Amino acid sequence: MRKSYQNLVEKLTEISRLNGVMNTITWDQEVMMPSGSAYARTGQIAALAGVIHERMTAPALGECLDELKICSDFNTVECCNIREASRQYDLMTKIPKRLVQTLAELSSRGHTIWVQARRENKFNDFSPVIQEFLLLKKEWASCAFPDISPYDANLDLFERGTTAAEISAIFDQLKTTLAPLIHEITHQTYQPDTAFLQGCFPIDKQAALARKISQDIGFQFDKGRMDVSVHPFCGGSDPTDVRITTRYSKDDFVESIYAAIHETGHALYEQGRKIESADLPVSESLTMGIHESQSLFWERMVAQSRAFCTHYFDSFCEFFSDKSQGITVDTFYQAINACKPDFIRVEADELTYPLHLILRFEIERDLFAGNISVNDLPELWNEKMLTYLGIRPPNDTLGVLQDSHWSSGAFGYFPSYTLGAIYACQFYFAMQRELPDVEQFIASGNFVPIKNWLNDKIHSQGKLYSPQELVVKITGEPLNPQHYLSYLEEKYRAIYRLNGL
Ligand SMILES: [Zn+2]
Repeated sequence: MRKSYQNLVEKLTEISRLNGVMNTITWDQEVMMPSGSAYARTGQIAALAGVIHERMTAPALGECLDELKICSDFNTVECCNIREASRQYDLMTKIPKRLVQTLAELSSRGHTIWVQARRENKFNDFSPVIQEFLLLKKEWASCAFPDISPYDANLDLFERGTTAAEISAIFDQLKTTLAPLIHEITHQTYQPDTAFLQGCFPIDKQAALARKISQDIGFQFDKGRMDVSVHPFCGGSDPTDVRITTRYSKDDFVESIYAAIHETGHALYEQGRKIESADLPVSESLTMGIHESQSLFWERMVAQSRAFCTHYFDSFCEFFSDKSQGITVDTFYQAINACKPDFIRVEADELTYPLHLILRFEIERDLFAGNISVNDLPELWNEKMLTYLGIRPPNDTLGVLQDSHWSSGAFGYFPSYTLGAIYACQFYFAMQRELPDVEQFIASGNFVPIKNWLNDKIHSQGKLYSPQELVVKITGEPLNPQHYLSYLEEKYRAIYRLNGL
């Protein structure tokens, strides 16, 4: 049996290394590749994808797993590798090849149609793609997870073990508290001064500050890189080779710096994975929501705190001396946290962001349940924006057409962003109980205890536990949105000088 297990490890290691090559060439495509190489690269990616698919669905791998599944003579780490590899193998082999090909073809065609429909503000050109995906993703669900509802099956890809009913209950709580709070803030006379954040912030200085902060909080530049791409992301091939990207815009200093911090949070998770089992499932990141909890932990819980603003205020004044005249730490902190309902999700602030996600989740859930039709989407979207955020998109480009997710059939992805924010907050409070001086650490620029805590509790745990088990293990209770709501209420009522404190 040891021999079979060794055989499995060899097979999984090879697949992981091939995936590492794939990640490196797709990173290169986004960051470095000359535009004239696109055709050749597409062919290379398709060829490699074919090899990886072959390895992942090879009958020899299935036989090896069948042998191992009947034996109980393994330790926790080995059991985890066998369990995860079996799950992956089952998922890959249960789906008919025809369906895999049709989904891939629609994904590529869908993206092109979406880009044009968004540019021309023509939802009707894009709606047939959503309609087709809906049918295909229902069929996919009936093959992959025949025992659960189609939308739960799609959610399971991103948030294993979490159902739409559970998410609905959490999101309803958020909606009930946040929508009225945002309404109060929008109508409050007192508003933070954000004028000093307007105008030009030289890009070389932004880049220098972003690299400094990323290094300060723990990104290891000898085991990773930070570059520029159209859409910021975190990629790479191994915990010793983590590639993050960000983007700079000379008139939006906050977005650039915080995008860099966000991606650094993802990167710290990747760099913190267990190195001795880097090519095995046990060391892989847990779920989308947990990954997002790590980026948001640094971006929101740490970097948007008063302590962090206090520490970096001098750097801000030094890098951008013409912008900092007459500005105090308090003005800086308030401006970084200003709340203003807007149409675009990716530009939303901490407080309005969850409502953008709740809206998308509700639409997806109702679409899969057959309670609404694709043609209703633009109007439904706009109505929900008005109810939740008090604003109505003037067109579909700023409304239902803004995200790329549905163009590639990624239904069930959106909730992870907000679940991540709730996890991040709950983890932060648990850490504060164990490290009561955390705010002083942040204010003095000592991020080592925080990074070590996250390495120990989350990054090095890989896939050993389910997300539900992990959150209880770390915080002593299941996911509880109440902490997140109290944190938001307290913070934003103070910034906006609202009653109730
Ligand atoms: Zn992220």
